[in-house]
Parts: sequence; C-alpha cells; structure tokens
Amino acid sequence: MSEESTAVTKLVTPVRVSYTYTPGVATGKFLRGIRRGKIIGQACDSCGRVYVPPRGACPRCASPTSQEVELAHKGTIITFCVVRVPSENIDAELPYCAASILLDGADITLFGLIQECKFDEVRIGMRVEAVWKPESEWEYNLANIVHYRPIEEPDVPYEQIKEYS
Ligand SMILES: [Zn+2]
Repeated sequence: MSEESTAVTKLVTPVRVSYTYTPGVATGKFLRGIRRGKIIGQACDSCGRVYVPPRGACPRCASPTSQEVELAHKGTIITFCVVRVPSENIDAELPYCAASILLDGADITLFGLIQECKFDEVRIGMRVEAVWKPESEWEYNLANIVHYRPIEEPDVPYEQIKEYS
C-alpha cells in the first residue's frame, strides 16, 4: 500500500458541548406555565391559529402571537408510530409508541408518548390525556408530561383533523 492510501482521513472522538439556552419571551411564558402545570399557547393576531409551544410569531402570516391561550390537557392523536430502535434522546423502554398529538384548542401538534394501552389499540383520531409527573417534580420542561393515555371519548373523524396530518 502506498503512503497516500493509508493516510488518516477520519478521526472518531467524543465531543461534549455545554451551553445555556435562552428560550425567548414566548417560549419562556410557555415554560413558566409548564412549571405550574399549565399548557400555555399563543394565538396569532391575524389568523387566530394557536401555537404550542409558542415562538412569538405565526409561521403562516408572520404576525405576532400576542394572545395567550391556556390549552386543555387532552387532545387527539394525529399520527403515531411504534418505535423499536433505541435513541439517545428518549428515555423510554422499548418498544414505545410515539405520537403527534393535537391538544384541544391548538393548531399545531406536540410530540408525546402513548402508554397505558396496547399498541394495536392506538389509532389516528384516538382521544388522549396528558399524564403529569407528581407536582413536586415539575420543572421548566415539557417532560413534566410523562406520557399520554387514552380517554373514554369518541374518536375524532379523520375529516376533522386531516389538515394537521
Ligand atoms: Zn397567523
């Protein structure tokens, strides 16, 4: 082999980055709400769509989202999948069901885990509610909601939620 063909072209090494995240005004209000057990979204001043977590502006019309909206702790599964491969960022026992959930009153979905039911019972349109950690453990973190579980309400027809899928 020539020296050129054995040249080092790649080096694998651990890297660690420590940083401080500043959430901004809108997301800060959301995180303070989560710390108190409330889910706070914001409505667009122009089109009225409700975003959670809010970012301070509507991505559709670029208007401010200055009106706070307290959202329900229940919603509808828009889509889901059963995960059977590990992820460094999700501390859940495999397999688990990850879902996109539209909280009542919101116009954007949140990610959540579906538990307390069999995976083959999970379906689009299924009604679920948030299950929170004990209040003494609440932090400024959406992980205060540990998962969502089914509730005894009729499924939402696909026609009513298809714009969110
Ligand atoms: Zn808007």
